[in-house]
Formats: sequence, C-alpha cells, structure tokens
Amino acid sequence: MNNIVENFIIGLSKHPRLNSDVFFAEQRKFAKSNNRGFFNKDELNKAYQKLLDKKTLKPNPTLLSLIRMKNTRSHSGIAVVSVLTKPYPCSGRCVYCPTQKDVPKSYLSNEPAVMRAISCKYHPYRQTESRLSALEATGHIIDKISIRIIGGTWSEYPKRYQSWFISQVFRACNEYYSKEKLSLSLPHNQKVNESANVRIVELSIETRQDRINYQEVIRLRNLGVTKVELGVQSVDDNILQMNSRGSSNADTVRATKLLKDYGFKVSYQMMLNLLGANPASDINVFKTIFSQQDYRPDHLKIYPLALVKNSKLYKHYVNGNFQPYDRNTLIKTISTIKSIVPEYCRIERVIRDIPAEVIVKGGAKSSNLRQEVQQKMKRLAISCRCIRCREIKDQTPLGIDRLYINEYLASDSQEYFISIESGTNTKQLRGFLRLRKVNENTNMLVGACYMVRELHVYGPTVAIGETDALASQHKGIGKRLVTVAEQIALEDGAKKICVIAGIGVRKYFKKLGYKLVNTYMTKDLKPDT
Ligand code: SF4
Repeated sequence: MNNIVENFIIGLSKHPRLNSDVFFAEQRKFAKSNNRGFFNKDELNKAYQKLLDKKTLKPNPTLLSLIRMKNTRSHSGIAVVSVLTKPYPCSGRCVYCPTQKDVPKSYLSNEPAVMRAISCKYHPYRQTESRLSALEATGHIIDKISIRIIGGTWSEYPKRYQSWFISQVFRACNEYYSKEKLSLSLPHNQKVNESANVRIVELSIETRQDRINYQEVIRLRNLGVTKVELGVQSVDDNILQMNSRGSSNADTVRATKLLKDYGFKVSYQMMLNLLGANPASDINVFKTIFSQQDYRPDHLKIYPLALVKNSKLYKHYVNGNFQPYDRNTLIKTISTIKSIVPEYCRIERVIRDIPAEVIVKGGAKSSNLRQEVQQKMKRLAISCRCIRCREIKDQTPLGIDRLYINEYLASDSQEYFISIESGTNTKQLRGFLRLRKVNENTNMLVGACYMVRELHVYGPTVAIGETDALASQHKGIGKRLVTVAEQIALEDGAKKICVIAGIGVRKYFKKLGYKLVNTYMTKDLKPDT
C-alpha cells in the first residue's frame, strides 16, 4: 500500500503543470483504474514526508500545498499561530462580553484556541511550540509565521508580563529547530529571530481604542508589534453607550490615525446585532467606516453578536429587550456589508469560533456562515472585492500580471494600495503593498517619510531560499512592489522611506538597502536610487 501512495506522489511531482485541477483529475484516474477511493490527505502527507526522508523526492511546495491538511492556514502566504494571554481582569463592562472563571475576559472555555491554551497552562512558550508542531505535522511550512496574541485587552496587562510573554514567543520560535537553549532578554530574542529558522513576520495584539496613546504606540513598537486589532464594534456613540462599551467614536478616530502614522496595520473588530442596533443601522455603520476618511481600516473582523448566558445581555434578552438576528437576517446583512467593502481591506472573519451549543439563540449558531453568505451573494449576483476574496491561493495565474495603484485619503493623509494582480474579470491578487505618506510631526520616531505599512505576497507558502514554478512567493513580486513604493515616494520629494517590518522580515529589507533605525527599516532616497 505504501508503495502505491508513494508512486502516486512521485507521479504528481513530475507533472509539468501541477495544480488543483490536475491533482483531482489524477486522483479520479487512479481511483477508477484501481477500483478504489481517493487517497486521503493524511496518507498522502505521510508518503510525501517518507519520500523526503529517503531523499527520493526534493521538496515540492506546489505538491505540498495540494496535499497539506487545512490548507487555508497558510495559503495566504504565512502560517498563523494564535497565542492566548492568561486570564486577567478587564476594566470594561460591555454587556455582551462573557465572563468565565479561569478564562480570559470575552473568551469561553470551550473555544478551540482557549482549550489549547488551557492545556499549556497559558504559557506562551508551550502554546507557540505546540502550535508550530501541529502545523508542521499537517504539512505546513513554518519558516515564516504570523503571531496573533489574543485574550482580552492587551494594554491592561502589566508591562512586565507583556515583555515576558512576547519574549517567550520569540524564544519558542528561535529554539524550535535549535538544540541550543536561548533564554535571554526580549531584544536578544528579537535579534536572534532575524535569522532564525522560524521567523516572526507579523505580530498582532488586540486592544481597546481608548488605550491607544503616544506611550502605548512606542511601547508596541519596542515589543515588535506590527498590527493592532481595535475592538471598535460600532461607530454610533448611542449604540456604544447602550452596550456600556466605555469607549467612544472619537477614541476610534484618534487611535486609527495614531496607529497608521506609526505604520501599524489597523484591524477593526465590528459587532453586528448589538443592543439597540438593527440590520439597517449595522449596514450604515459599515458605509460610514468606508466612506469617511477618519476610519478606512486595513483589515476587518465581522463578529455577529453571540448571545451567551454568562453575559449581562442575557438579562436583556430574558426581559424581552433584545432579540438576536435569525439566520436569514444575518446572512442578508453580512452579504450586503461584504459588497461595500473596498479592495484595500481584508475581511478576516465573518464569525467567531464559539461552539453553537453555548449560543442561546440566533443565526450566530450557524457554523458555516461564510459559505452561506457566499451562496447568498451568488444568488443576488453581488460580489465581494476584499483582499481575501481576491487572493490567488493555490490557483494557477490566468493571463499576465498587471500593476494597480489605488490612491485614497485615510486619517488625514494619502494612502496607496499598490497591487499586482493577474486574471481579467476575476482578478487574482498575487501581492500588495500598503504605503502611507507620514507628515511632519506625526511620527516622533522617524519624522516625515513614506511608510510601508504592509507587504504581502500571496499563494502557498514557499520555504525561504526555495522557489516553486507556480507559487507567487519568491518570484520578485515583493521587490517589484517595493520599487514602485520608492518611486512614488521619490516623485513626491520624500527624503526617506520606512517599513514597519516584522522582526523576521528585517533581513529581506537589509538586502534591498534598508537599515534599522528606531525599530523601522529605513532607506534614504536619492533621485538615482
Ligand atoms: S473591553 Fe473587551 S474584554 Fe473588556 S469587557 Fe469589553 S469586550 Fe470584554
């Protein structure tokens, strides 16, 4: 049996234009001629690893992306590792927020990420290490990872705990393929990670907008954070007040600008069906955040409110003051919202991973909401233009690559969404770069400059130093995008360009002539650069 699977893998590896269509056609052909079912991904993965160990096969990223389990975890170009902070009180009083003993505020003990954290006693090193080995065991390339720190309001944890937590995450990555134990300070662990075998290319935290100020952004930069998720929920002050959110629309506007001026990627967590809201007011909130330049987030998480018993909102429900949206209302509302999201924004989620059995009632109980929304949009002949819906994933590029530059105003300055896309009607996003003009006196660390806030090349993960015939990574797409960004900055008379690079990406920018200044990779611009 082993040989049959191995021969099948070897046959696929030799195919000149291997893609998902070829993969399924070969599976069908083999199953028919041998009167058997398809090979499952587990047996294909094991056979692939065995062939690598025997050196009968060279690493083949395209093949790996087709046989790897849960492919969505890394076909956006990097593998994501979520790590939870320990349970800690939050000063917020939000009515919808669940409270459970020994679990971080706003999380529930039976959410998958929480269960994993509990089994590691919330230790950041153990959580990181165990996620890395789970990803590796299921065929994912883990040399570039995005760390997502979740678990309540990050800015309210003690400063010493924050530094220790992040240092342990870096240490776990640095030691993953190394026998040497490297427990030293955070700056040391960051330095080692620049050339480690598991590099952190993105580091995000989640916090409240009223906790963002100058001191906090400087602190986040020193910790190596590159992305901030703000619990915005709504931009309607009446709704925020009814839900005891404790922060205002003005906080959101101020935090968004400060974070963007310091180069952070800004993600909004938005909640539908808050107390006092209705589908029309929810849709209006999304129209506002994209039509008004004060907001315009880079990333978006749409969380339909999940009514759970251990929240204050449950009392409102029992008293008849609150009703969760039913499934159809929710699907219709999300479909409309998705159709108004612009090309520069990525919708990361449309539902939170809360087990259906703890949700009292409503459409949020549906576990395949994203698919149901897609079907609804198809029926209504409307489409979503967000980054995620245009990512090339493991498709073969159709037609030639084209460069697009989308310029827009956001938080009082110019933003450029520079992308390389192939295909005609259905654009396939191969990579993009987010560039911002940083005006005088808005960033005290680097001064006036052009700032690269995000650079992402899509397609299956390709290990550092390797190339693959079809995948987008390591094809010079990133370099081409950086060159265009430098040209835009030069044409506007900028003296320098800076990048809020994740620690693990610093080396890449060093090769392009950048050097580290005050936590940013920086390059002086001269007309002939
Ligand atoms: S701020 Fe977040 S964690 Fe704190 S009560 Fe509100 S929802 Fe819960």
